Amino acid sequence: MTKNKRVVIAGMGFGGIRAARVLAGRGLDVVLVDRNNYHLFQPLLYQVATAGLEQESIAHSVRAMARSWSGTRFHLAEVAGVNFISHEIQTDNGLLPYDYLVIGAGSVTNFFGLESVKRHAFDLKELADAEILRNHILTAFERAVIEPDPARKRALMTFVIVGGGPTGVEFAGALIELVHFVLAKDYPDLNTGAARVVLVEATDKLLASMPEKLRTYTLKKLRSMSVEVLLNARVVDAGPERVVLHDGTVIPAHTLFWSAGVKAAALSDVLDAPHKAGGRIPVEPDLTLPGHPDVYVIGDMAYLEQDGAALPMIAPVAMQMGIYSGRAILSKERGTTLPPFCYHDKGSMATIGRNAAVASAFGMDFRGYLAWLVWLLLHLYYLIGFRNRIVVMLNWVWYYWFHERQVRLITKREGQSHE
Ligand SMILES: Cc1cc2nc3c(=O)[nH]c(=O)nc-3n(C[C@H](O)[C@H](O)[C@H](O)COP(=O)(O)OP(=O)(O)OC[C@H]3O[C@@H](n4cnc5c(N)ncnc54)[C@H](O)[C@@H]3O)c2cc1C
Repeated sequence: MTKNKRVVIAGMGFGGIRAARVLAGRGLDVVLVDRNNYHLFQPLLYQVATAGLEQESIAHSVRAMARSWSGTRFHLAEVAGVNFISHEIQTDNGLLPYDYLVIGAGSVTNFFGLESVKRHAFDLKELADAEILRNHILTAFERAVIEPDPARKRALMTFVIVGGGPTGVEFAGALIELVHFVLAKDYPDLNTGAARVVLVEATDKLLASMPEKLRTYTLKKLRSMSVEVLLNARVVDAGPERVVLHDGTVIPAHTLFWSAGVKAAALSDVLDAPHKAGGRIPVEPDLTLPGHPDVYVIGDMAYLEQDGAALPMIAPVAMQMGIYSGRAILSKERGTTLPPFCYHDKGSMATIGRNAAVASAFGMDFRGYLAWLVWLLLHLYYLIGFRNRIVVMLNWVWYYWFHERQVRLITKREGQSHE
């Protein structure tokens, strides 16, 4: 009896799960590998960090998915490297041979060599990061309420966010709303009006990929919500109680959140392949690694140019690459080939706050309530798991009507041991 060919998919992110869906039930032995036993919906991490959602509601068990996809099984492991000659991946659980390999290990935060910033800043990549940041934000208010020194009190309530892309904008909006709508009621003895959310962007614009009128709307809206937006400003140094800008300005702040860039996941460093800026791996037009027609690199890790520019490190690119890699493998098994990968840009969007978002899609621009509704619906649609969708929707409706964020829990205080 001939054995089914084995496809190993390393990374169950946006790209990996799309590849798995395409390959399931097609007579192949599909092994799903991830160091976490869940798929994480990263675009909603900031809502966990700002006490809007439970962390479980934006993650979904990979085993539960594998159970419903025939011919697939899950292997919990950290992938440490790939031996392209023996066709094996090296994991912390041993070697795993493959006939085809799809690598989609995503990205990590890029601090661009700023060591002090890396040491003191918070970022959002993992589920645990969001919980740590939520604990930190809420603990800062608990400390502020008992702090006698007014300057320290203000610094505890000052939050510097770096990066005017969608994550920075969404986080800034959600944080200021948390302070004004929710924490203001929780802390009647604290002047929460003195809290500062400072959004620092190195260029002269927010949401650089959006059309100008949506960028202008975003800037105006954030400022009207009393987010301090600093354009053409760079953070160059940081300590536990201060943030330093390029012109020497010191912002007394206990919280620095970094969303100014990402680079390919650490796995990319150990792969015997050339690298582009940010550690991304150049791929052929069919997403294979040059010289390795059985190895596909997808999502944030892959570097591919289209229309003269590198494809962005965003979820739709990863999803389309995942689907393509799955189909390409099926085509190879049938002895046919697919046309080269072509990314279809369906647009982009970002939410700013209650009833306010911007979206640019199909040649049309939306802003305000309509864009906000579209943003909500699309995020619910792409969230994996029916129960997650219901839980997230309930949280959003609850917050919309009652101005309450239910998850404002400090699950672990900084420096506190649970032993
Ligand atoms: C806070 C935040 C907000 C974002 N918001 C948006 C947004 O609004 N819109 C948008 O389009 N994009 C957004 N993105 C970007 C988007 O999430 C990524 O582009 C997308 O997740 C990339 O998909 P991927 O499949 O390449 O990798 P990922 O989805 O990151 O998945 C990688 C997987 O690989 C696993 N993995 C990594 N290394 C290893 C290893 N060595 N061994 C085993 N497993 C490993 C990880 O656990 C993970 O499951 C956001 C990202 C972040 C962090």
